[in-house]
Amino acid sequence: MTSRFEPRLHVATRDELAGRVIAITGAGSGIGRAVALACAAHGAEVVLLGRTVTKLEKVYDEIIAAGGVEPVIAPLDLEKASAREYDAIAEAIGTRYGRLDGLLHNAGLLGDLSPIEHYDVPLWTRVMHVNVTAAFALTQVLLPLLRAAPDASVLFTSSSVGRRGRAYWGAYAVSKFAVEGLAQVLADELSGTTRVRVNSINPGGTRTAMRRAAYPAEVAESAPLPETITAAYVCLLGPGARGMSGQTVDAQAPA
Ligand code: NDP
Repeated sequence: MTSRFEPRLHVATRDELAGRVIAITGAGSGIGRAVALACAAHGAEVVLLGRTVTKLEKVYDEIIAAGGVEPVIAPLDLEKASAREYDAIAEAIGTRYGRLDGLLHNAGLLGDLSPIEHYDVPLWTRVMHVNVTAAFALTQVLLPLLRAAPDASVLFTSSSVGRRGRAYWGAYAVSKFAVEGLAQVLADELSGTTRVRVNSINPGGTRTAMRRAAYPAEVAESAPLPETITAAYVCLLGPGARGMSGQTVDAQAPA
């Protein structure tokens, strides 16, 4: 009998990510915050990317209080950032570390839950920009630093509605399909010629502000806390998934 490799069941060693520099978008809250704390707890040097500096500062303090390596705060509004701001992030990471071992595209915008027929066009553009175009642009500008790392991992955040379309999920669902496509194209381009692996992850229903906005009537406790779903992230961003690329993974067991 062959057993399937399940990153969500991965049990990381204490120092599994030691010596790895891992950048995380949307690191100030929800799943991004939880993954940042988990990566730091396993020894990573974390670059906290996000738009709300006060939230990033709280995560910074939590990492220091837990005895983690000092992280870096890198403010970046993915909706508004100019090319120069992207370049500045790459330059800052390059100057400090000279490489990047992990990049988690976690930040996301839900937009409206409404029929395509009535979906607001400017909102559609914003959701596609934050969820897809910004992740593409950030990957592009950081690729030289990822290539400079011995075992780099790029991880995109998908969703169940990015694998099978569902009514009223509009731009969000379409953006997650695009994210899956972006991950596949990039994984194929980089396979064989680089040591950069590229995968996508579906966190599954998780108790965050986005989940509350999408399911306002749901009993909050019915979705797991972000802290409980980080095993697959740590696995994929670290040596636990070395050699794995072009895959899409679930952070939780299927419901
Ligand atoms: P949250 O709403 O809690 O967090 C979203 C994060 O994205 C926040 O840190 C937010 O920053 C950041 N963000 C939003 N817009 C921007 C922007 N313009 N620039 C920079 N950062 C931005 O949601 P989750 O933690 O739930 O979501 C994390 C990821 O997981 C998303 O990609 C989401 O689509 C995906 N996902 C979540 C599921 C769930 O059930 N929770 C299920 C499936 C997928 P700020 O706090 O400053 O607003």
